Amino acid sequence: MALQYTHWTLDQDDQDLAWLTLDVADSRTNILSLSVLDEFRQILERFEEHTPAGIAIVSGKSRGFIAGADIKEFTEITRVQQALEKIYLGHSIMDQLDHLFCPTVAVINGFCLGGGLELALCCDYRVALDDPGVRFSFPEIKLGIHPGYGGTVRALRHLNPLTAMDLMLTGRSIDARRANKIGLVDHVVPERQLRSAARRLLLNRPPVHRVPRMAKLLNSRPARLVLASQIRRRVSRKALLEHYPAPHAMIRHWAEHYGDEEKMLQYEASSVAELSVTKTAKNLVRTFMLSKKLKGLASREPAPVRHVHVIGAGVMGADIAAWCVHRGLTVTLQDIRMESLARAKKRAWQYFRRRLKHRLLVRNAMDRFIPDMQGSGLGKADVVIEAVFEDRNIKQDLLASIEPKLRKDALLATNTSSIEIEKLCDALAEPARLVGIHFFNPVTRMPLIEVVNGVQTRREVLQQAIDFSRQIDKLPLPVRSMPGFLVNRILTPYMVEAGLLREAGIPAGEIDLAAVRFGMPMGPLELADTIGLDIGLHVAESLDLAYGFGIPESFRSMVEAGKLGRKSGQGFYKWKRGKKVSPIRKPSPKHSESIQNRLVSRIANEAVACLREEIVPDRDSLDAGIVFGTGFAPFRGGVMQYIDSRGAADLLATLGSLQKQFGDRFRPDPGWHELIAEAG
Ligand code: NAD
Repeated sequence: MALQYTHWTLDQDDQDLAWLTLDVADSRTNILSLSVLDEFRQILERFEEHTPAGIAIVSGKSRGFIAGADIKEFTEITRVQQALEKIYLGHSIMDQLDHLFCPTVAVINGFCLGGGLELALCCDYRVALDDPGVRFSFPEIKLGIHPGYGGTVRALRHLNPLTAMDLMLTGRSIDARRANKIGLVDHVVPERQLRSAARRLLLNRPPVHRVPRMAKLLNSRPARLVLASQIRRRVSRKALLEHYPAPHAMIRHWAEHYGDEEKMLQYEASSVAELSVTKTAKNLVRTFMLSKKLKGLASREPAPVRHVHVIGAGVMGADIAAWCVHRGLTVTLQDIRMESLARAKKRAWQYFRRRLKHRLLVRNAMDRFIPDMQGSGLGKADVVIEAVFEDRNIKQDLLASIEPKLRKDALLATNTSSIEIEKLCDALAEPARLVGIHFFNPVTRMPLIEVVNGVQTRREVLQQAIDFSRQIDKLPLPVRSMPGFLVNRILTPYMVEAGLLREAGIPAGEIDLAAVRFGMPMGPLELADTIGLDIGLHVAESLDLAYGFGIPESFRSMVEAGKLGRKSGQGFYKWKRGKKVSPIRKPSPKHSESIQNRLVSRIANEAVACLREEIVPDRDSLDAGIVFGTGFAPFRGGVMQYIDSRGAADLLATLGSLQKQFGDRFRPDPGWHELIAEAG
């Protein structure tokens, strides 16, 4: 008979195998909250008294094993001691599972992340469903910590250390087949064989997978020290120690403590406890929560989109089409120029080959990527997105001409990056059906979409656009239809300031270094080169008309001289085969602080203006936009969070003195006073 707990169910079969099913109550996913762990402990104690012939841990959710620890509980931690208590509890439970006197197997049918993977690693064996939706990862590093339920010890016990370190340092996820290749799972099988594969392992008890002999050499002390310093150097390029301490702690952990599991567990606990109360961890968790909030905007049961029609096969349209196909949709792609379609098709093929690898999958994807000169997909599509030249008249004419051909219930969207929706819907018979779906470049890498709400846009249309964004796995941020919306409006004065600094004679490398040291993923001038100076100039010109941001003379002269950045081989930097040629002299960090002050003050001032003008409804949305749309220093938790932690009064004073020195472009926005009043 089955024993029923709140979250777990225990079945014993006639071969004396225990089937322990986790189906967390009132939750769509299995999460290791304190109450789930507490019940698990009771069950493990029971196993210690009456040991079965074998134990299989199964998920009761149809798609997903365990998605990790409960992050909400994590946010409540404010003291190291508090964190330690929680980690010790986790350690003792995982140890119990690890040391049971019978074979154990984790049966993995979907997401197996963080604490879930740590739990699976305590089992002797792991079998996984052969499905691309089955993913394994240690995402802790993205939250400012590293695995803390014994995962650092057990990952290194089972895997090649370089593979284990890579998984724990990047937080990237791998599918079941890859997990099988690296020794993380023993068998990958179709659904109908999952249980029988688990049963066979429990009854036959083959040897447990351990680090292969050759890879063991990499764990020897001399090899570890050399490898650790190489890894540290690589990591430092992306994550400075002062911004992101967790990866550095993880490397030290392996280099200094490997070989003594007891000591490693001790260090793991104290390291995670200390990391979990750092500002970086708090801000990264905030960033994670912001992404959840955006995901939560989607309807519970949206009407599924199957067919998207994209008009304009340029830089954006081509990538939007490829992205949608990669997410499983069928796309018809229309352009007036044959060569644009041919280029788009080649680019999509290269992208699918890189991402899907298998020939059959690439062919299936290409079958759904349909060049469509005549626009025959228009009348069939669930979603129609125009991505033609950024020109009001061209867009207006196009939208008016296609409107009569669309299905009544089709979503009609524009990918404009600067034109207000109200100015594009004039000629439509039904203006209320137009919405902005603003993708960022490069589409395949940027997680955000600004869903632009025109004054006339119908509420259901906005919701439809949000649902579509989620269906293609992007984060939808609803914004008001004002020039530049949110992201470009905040980025433009920052890039303009970088141009002015350059004109004042400061080397590009020095300006960019200051921004990177602040925590930006890339400096503003390298970003301008990457976007293309012609495109940047176009946006800057249209926003200058609206807000008077100004345009550095050098932007214009460089574009006139054909220096467009990466695509032309020359911009603020020299570019060779798409790669930046580093200047011979290393940039100096001497003036970093004053450069940062100028760059960041412009971002902060514009953010305050956007909040005052309700471009987005609240601070959280603003921070989400700035982090996911520009990559703004995630460890700072967003620009509003940065203003809070530095102090609004301090930033206001800085703006005041910059205004005296450099003029009115630093004039504080009226919103600052409200912010300071609110703060206290
Ligand atoms: P692009 O110049 O690379 O491509 C535009 C394409 O539209 C060309 O292939 C052209 O042949 C085609 N076209 C023009 N008129 C057409 C018509 N009537 N019917 C069918 N096709 C037509 O432009 P892009 O950079 O891809 O930008 C497209 C849109 O996306 C613009 O609104 C732009 O503001 C926006 N956007 C661009 C970026 C970026 O970084 N490039 C980022 C976000 C948004």
